[in-house]
Amino acid sequence: MVVNGTNKRTCKYCGAILKGRADKIYCHDYCRNNFNNQLKATDRQLPMVRNISNALMKNRKILSSLLPENQETIKANRDKLSEMGFIFRYITEVYTARNGNTYHYCYDHGYRQLENGWVLIVRKKET
Ligand SMILES: [Zn+2]
Repeated sequence: MVVNGTNKRTCKYCGAILKGRADKIYCHDYCRNNFNNQLKATDRQLPMVRNISNALMKNRKILSSLLPENQETIKANRDKLSEMGFIFRYITEVYTARNGNTYHYCYDHGYRQLENGWVLIVRKKET
């Protein structure tokens, strides 16, 4: 097998770098679903719906890009996220843990508000 280290494959939908099998096209099932749904829906989708959908995917991509694969969590600065284009009001899920910590998720990545303008980026456990 020839491994070409410089030729990084990216998800057809969200642009995330693909890991794993060589025949993967999407990083996740929801990207495949979203891509297929978008193909079907593009013509009749309201621009606002499309924009929000894109913003959510972008949020997820930003969180994913900041959290190293081998780490569970990482601290990041809110301003940095905003600079990267993160839009805090667009989330897919709010989750409050038993200890009272509240997490805001964009698909499989999320964040928890910390003090002094920091957030803790987290990855959802596979279910
Ligand atoms: Zn993807």
